[in-house]
Amino acid sequence: MSEPEQQEQHLDFIRTRVKSDQASGKNDGRVHTRFPPEPNGYLHLGHAKSICLNFGIAREFGGLCNLRLDDTNPVAEKTEYAEAIQSDVRWLGFDWEERIFHASDYFDQLHAWAVQLIEGGKAFVCDLTFEEMRQHRGTLIEPGTNSPYRDRPIEENLELFEKMRLGEFSDGSKTLRAKIDMASPNLNMRDPVIYRIIHQDHPKTGDKWKIYPSYDFAHGQSDSLEGITHSICTLEFEHHRPLYDWFCQNLGIHHPQQIEFARLNLNYTVMSKRKMLRLVQEGQVKGWDDPRMPTLQGMRRRGYTPKSIRDFCEKVGVAKRDNVIEVELLEHCLRHDLNLCAPRRLGVLDPLKVTIINYPDEQVEQVDAVNNPEDPDAGTRPVSFSKHLYVDRNDFMEDPPKKYFRMSPGREVRLKYAYYITCSEVIKDAEGKITELICEYDPESRGGDTPDGRKVKGTIQWVDASSAKPCEVRLYDRLFKAPDPDKVEDGGDFTGNLNPDSLQTIGSALVEKSVTDMGTGKPFQLERVGYFCIDPDGQESGNLVLNRTVAMRDSWAKANK
Ligand code: ATP
Ligand code: MG
Repeated sequence: MSEPEQQEQHLDFIRTRVKSDQASGKNDGRVHTRFPPEPNGYLHLGHAKSICLNFGIAREFGGLCNLRLDDTNPVAEKTEYAEAIQSDVRWLGFDWEERIFHASDYFDQLHAWAVQLIEGGKAFVCDLTFEEMRQHRGTLIEPGTNSPYRDRPIEENLELFEKMRLGEFSDGSKTLRAKIDMASPNLNMRDPVIYRIIHQDHPKTGDKWKIYPSYDFAHGQSDSLEGITHSICTLEFEHHRPLYDWFCQNLGIHHPQQIEFARLNLNYTVMSKRKMLRLVQEGQVKGWDDPRMPTLQGMRRRGYTPKSIRDFCEKVGVAKRDNVIEVELLEHCLRHDLNLCAPRRLGVLDPLKVTIINYPDEQVEQVDAVNNPEDPDAGTRPVSFSKHLYVDRNDFMEDPPKKYFRMSPGREVRLKYAYYITCSEVIKDAEGKITELICEYDPESRGGDTPDGRKVKGTIQWVDASSAKPCEVRLYDRLFKAPDPDKVEDGGDFTGNLNPDSLQTIGSALVEKSVTDMGTGKPFQLERVGYFCIDPDGQESGNLVLNRTVAMRDSWAKANK
């Protein structure tokens, strides 16, 4: 099969559709998508999928993608969120150029359209309370009943709607509803509310409005105004599509095609702004940007690269049915990217002192360490080496099993980039805890070769005692201990599934000095230990705090070989 044919086969159902629309000359062959977050929280990995899809399709089909803040509910929305959204979309690597819009940009037009519907006898002012409306709505198997206000004369509707606009009625006392069909099998078509009274200032429009359009009355029309061709959204909006279509048809405006796909779900993770807000408010995490959170801000702070997230979204693809993706796939994409781009450094999480008894007392030398074996252009850096070093306690066993190739008494190992050493004495404190290893080095083994060509099986990392930098290291585990955090026994909620050990702090790790130059949030590999990055905490006090981005072991790659 030729390569273009192969690619053809791999087009998902949305791209297939976009492609055929373009080929048939629909919308004059234009492709225009949008990413429409509501600024009521921070973006999460699920949003990243939607961003990659919308901006990706625009890019692939020579089209455009808008950023639209869907700000129709001033009660939950904040400027803080709107700003973070923009920063996150940019960080992920996408550009809306000058096309940033707000649903609130269209409030005048939406109001005029509401008036148009009233004038056409297609909308009415209803005095039912939300509770009464619910009782009138019927169920999936029973039709609803008409509101007693449904047949209000057009003039009266216009007058009441105007009074709603002027703020003459209290919140919830009246609504404007579309007059569609209370017997429709689709509950969304049973005279849906299109305007609500909310006496609340809006971040963009101030105190101008006392009435705000519903999501359904704003979304499709905003798409239409922007000339969107394909309005891609998640499955829960499938049953809203008839309403989306109804508004476009009855207003006689440009009619974008809504297409639904399955939202991204990840095991061991909650992916809902509402639930994440609770974690933040209850202090279960340190904030929206806690490195354990699946928010883009949290992932960024943890050291995720934008590329790893884009790769993940591409690998996951788009589906028509709900499914759950394994978090290991996300970590696999992260490791894959970090392996290629992350500089290597030396560090030990649990330092154990080593004294090289035959090394000159005052001598300090520089050994060359490879910055990234995957990237020949990354070069080397000097790392200082002296008589006093630290290795990781994990890399020593006093009484090792047969196949143990790291340090033990009498066994020669290689210190990465430096010399072969052999432990000759183990020093312990009064409780029997090992406090120091006395070793001898082979001066001829620098860089890992000896004149006699002998080989050692173990290579371990180390740091130089006099120049190493102490740091705090934060090791993260999954935030939830259950694959499906929402599945709870005995009546609790998802917070009952929080993993009490999701954060482990190590107070006394040591890293080579050059780690201090890495810059916040820029991931690097501590050789043999894992990937890490500098956390902004500690910047002010001058302390070094590291987040573990991800451990080395890739269980996903192993299982899927
Ligand atoms: P949440 O349920 O977390 O509050 P939301 O859907 O209410 O998310 P919006 O701000 O309305 O958040 O979403 C903006 C866009 O991102 C929408 O088009 C929505 O369909 C999409 N989106 C949200 N969550 C996901 C997800 N988990 N997977 C894919 N797309 C998503
Ligand atoms: Mg929402």
